[in-house]
Amino acid sequence: MARVYNFSAGPSMLPLPVLETAQRELLEYGSSGQSVMEMSHRSAVYDGIIKETEAALRRVLNIPDNYKVGFFQGGASTQFAMVPLNLMTTGKADYIVTGQFSNKAAKEAQKYGEVNVVASSKDKNFTYIPDPDTIEFHDDASFIHICENNTIYGTRYVKLPQKEGVPLVADMSSCILSRPTDVSKYGLIYFGVQKNVAPAGMAVAIVREDLLGHADPKTPAMLNYQTIIDAESMYNTPPCYTIYMMGLVLKWIENEVGGLAEMEKRNNAKAALLYDYLDSSNFFHNPVEKEFRSIMNVTFTSPSPELDKKFCAEAAEAGFVNLKGHRSVGGMRASIYNAMPHEGVEKLVEFMKRFEAENA
Ligand SMILES: *Cc1c(COP(=O)(O)O)cnc(C)c1O
Repeated sequence: MARVYNFSAGPSMLPLPVLETAQRELLEYGSSGQSVMEMSHRSAVYDGIIKETEAALRRVLNIPDNYKVGFFQGGASTQFAMVPLNLMTTGKADYIVTGQFSNKAAKEAQKYGEVNVVASSKDKNFTYIPDPDTIEFHDDASFIHICENNTIYGTRYVKLPQKEGVPLVADMSSCILSRPTDVSKYGLIYFGVQKNVAPAGMAVAIVREDLLGHADPKTPAMLNYQTIIDAESMYNTPPCYTIYMMGLVLKWIENEVGGLAEMEKRNNAKAALLYDYLDSSNFFHNPVEKEFRSIMNVTFTSPSPELDKKFCAEAAEAGFVNLKGHRSVGGMRASIYNAMPHEGVEKLVEFMKRFEAENA
């Protein structure tokens, strides 16, 4: 077996101990005589799995009691529609556009009401985050929508927009569980699980109770937060195996890493290793304003598209895969989510130094 260092933006690496547990339990979960993949979602054993997964998420993220948790199909992209369908009670919402996903979210919401793009960082190719304190939000906005970590451009919010009486909605697909989060600052948090939490196939929403129950009457049952949450994410067959895997990842964070404060320490150390090298290099370059640099997705370029291509090919050969940047921005991107070991980043930096020396 030769496992590579996988820098993919998603689906991405899972912690090795999690995969090993899944492997051990693959043919028989506990003494159930069957695999989790084969189990009725209505069985007592599975009920234990889904309940424990939610409980673990609540413990790890310290979710207050007045927030509900639901598991949804259709990935984060379906949340782009669910948020306005369920929350746009005034017919209006404020969106901050800081990259492709927040732009898609705003476009989707336009189908359901008036979307005001109150700030954007498009003027500098999404290399920064607009200062929330200088943005004029609307009093009659149903919510403010942000993408907290911009997976493609490698930026993140360091300060959250907060407006009295207007709930903050955040797409946290690529930063959830990377550091402690004060859930009470948000009305709703959602994330696709395939970046930092589990294999693909699901999104999770954490919703403040008072925001439930106001969906547009035409909202399909499957896209109604309340319907799914009232049924404890068992309105229909949920993505059973993905939920099980999410439970294993949460237990890894809880018991082996030691919680989100320690997770953040590790993530900061990995990111610093890479950014410090990028800043010292005359060959590679990171375009993001320092303050807003993501600790999950690190973008960089070499002096030319030809060298970018050469770099990605030689890196893959050496066991560092999926370093090619998103097709819309080019260059390179190293996604260093929770599961990427420190050693993976160390070795990548060594490889980059060698490549620089050979090609500068
Ligand atoms: C990956 C990603 C998405 C899209 O997720 P899907 O589950 O593929 O729909 C949305 N937002 C962010 C921030 C992402 O990183």
